[in-house]
Amino acid sequence: MFPTQSNRRAWLQSLLYGPAALFTLEAFKAKRCDAAAAIGPDDNIKVTKLETFVLKNTWVFVKISTDAGVTGWGEMLKDDAKACAAGALEVADYLVGKDPRRVGFHWQAIHRGAFYRGGPIKTAISSGIDQALWDITGKCYGVPVYKLMGGPTRDRVRVYGTVSEKTGVNAMKVGPRGSRTPFKYVEGPKMVDEVAERFGALRQKHGKGVDIGIDFHGAVQPPTASLLIKALEPHQPFFYEEIVQALNIDVMAELAKKTHIPIATGERIFTKWGFKEILEKRAAVILQPDICYAGGITELKVIAGMAEAYYSPLAPHNPQGPCSLASSLQIAASIPNFLIQERGDNEYSDLLAKPLPPVTKGYRALLTEPGLGITIDENKLMAQVGEPRPYRARFDEVDGSVVDW
Ligand SMILES: [Mg+2]
Repeated sequence: MFPTQSNRRAWLQSLLYGPAALFTLEAFKAKRCDAAAAIGPDDNIKVTKLETFVLKNTWVFVKISTDAGVTGWGEMLKDDAKACAAGALEVADYLVGKDPRRVGFHWQAIHRGAFYRGGPIKTAISSGIDQALWDITGKCYGVPVYKLMGGPTRDRVRVYGTVSEKTGVNAMKVGPRGSRTPFKYVEGPKMVDEVAERFGALRQKHGKGVDIGIDFHGAVQPPTASLLIKALEPHQPFFYEEIVQALNIDVMAELAKKTHIPIATGERIFTKWGFKEILEKRAAVILQPDICYAGGITELKVIAGMAEAYYSPLAPHNPQGPCSLASSLQIAASIPNFLIQERGDNEYSDLLAKPLPPVTKGYRALLTEPGLGITIDENKLMAQVGEPRPYRARFDEVDGSVVDW
């Protein structure tokens, strides 16, 4: 077992101020740096256990334990929740016994060690484990992750979610709402105008001081997407998100050329290789990688670097839990090209032991605690563990055909 922060500090102070003071002031100051952390850089630490937890709401958590008593938490994909949880346990065969602080090395080993690489489930497994390893590493050195990644690059983080006077949040997102769903392959003026009028009413209500994105959710086919992006333009959406599915990037790139409103995408794109094509083909300006399945903190930092070369900002996707938000906030505080954090105003009081720093004037204060900067309350978490909601396909109400989620 390693000395804790407080007893290490007490030990140093006893040496300095006690009868057998051994250190000069300079040596003491240097040692104080080490004393801030529970585990010194040269101390040994090994992974002892990897556990996964599937919540009833489909969120999947991974906890990594070490022989130093330091634990790390991460989150994975919410689809295929049980497959992710089981897959992560298989990685334990590799990870147990290793130094958790070789985060980049382990990312490579987990990703490249698999013959079949990438995809949502595999990348989600490496993403959750990556977050947990960064959490442990930050806790070992006594600093939040962004301080290990050259940050902070900003003083606070802009968030979007629920527009509110109390929090000052002045950015939000909506879907293309009409009187019915889903959209048809080609919609007529009745439906197209209805969507535009509803969005226009929202713009009218909030005024120009509120940024309003619109998320097509990849559930609109290209001909209708083309009609909608023109009809919505006069109301100046903040961005158009997932105007079509990201499976055929050329189609998205074609549509992107037809509008000056920024196109956003990324929540269903994985790793640097997925985002490479988006950037090269100018299919989107705003990248929305999800830290729980695009490759974790390690990979989002790389994706941000690639995006910077194209003058593209990141607006990380987040429909999930506190590790997802905390990890994304670490990225926001360590990259120059950050735009805004999705659901950055979520509080997660049903899973956290301590509240997050409050959102004020639309911005979340930087997390200051070591690692991811949050503390999971395991009792609260265990109370939510259970069978995730079942798989559910969707069908057109009128003709019964399968429609996009
Ligand atoms: Mg979306």
